[in-house]
Amino acid sequence: MSEFDALIDGYLRFRLGDYRDERERYDRLAQGQSPKVMIIACSDSRVDPTRVFDAAPGQMFVLRNIANLVPPMAAITGQSSVAAALEYAVTSIRVEHIVVFGHARCGGVAAALAGDFDNPVAGRHVHAWMEFIAPARDAVRAACAMHPDIDAERALEQAGVRLSIDNLRSYPFVAQAEAAGEIMLHGVIFDIADGALKVLDRETGQYSVVPVAF
Ligand SMILES: [Zn+2]
Repeated sequence: MSEFDALIDGYLRFRLGDYRDERERYDRLAQGQSPKVMIIACSDSRVDPTRVFDAAPGQMFVLRNIANLVPPMAAITGQSSVAAALEYAVTSIRVEHIVVFGHARCGGVAAALAGDFDNPVAGRHVHAWMEFIAPARDAVRAACAMHPDIDAERALEQAGVRLSIDNLRSYPFVAQAEAAGEIMLHGVIFDIADGALKVLDRETGQYSVVPVAF
């Protein structure tokens, strides 16, 4: 069976399973969406935020890109899928939370640190995109030069989420909604290896693991 055939098989399971079992939900969703949460996550196939948060259809407005980055508004010179999704989520859907969903073992973060994207000829679109994490990468590199015991990848995963949250505030409609108390910005990091979810404390800037009672 090809990978595409596997997709069709999956569709049939969904169509005869959840879609039929939850008829009422899908009838309601057919009328429109009103999710309260926007998630900005990495495209990495291992970290699907709707799975990690056990979310139902209609619960989350999801944007995914390499390394869950939000460019600062000043860097956007033409059309931008990030800016468009953000604007739509905040001004039309009026989501109440935006969650930047980072993850451990992010290939984009590791490659940014390794300098794999520094050669624009090797992949000019990825190179240009990953420039958005450069301020955080440079800060982490400087910190690691002073303190070699720092786990650079972990530090950049965390710094990248903080940077994206800072950049969210460069969009006036986000900053205004936050100032009016209509929206809250959050940062989390998920690790596929142990299932741990870390949440960014907005006051301290530190991450803490969500306790799980097994
Ligand atoms: Zn990633």
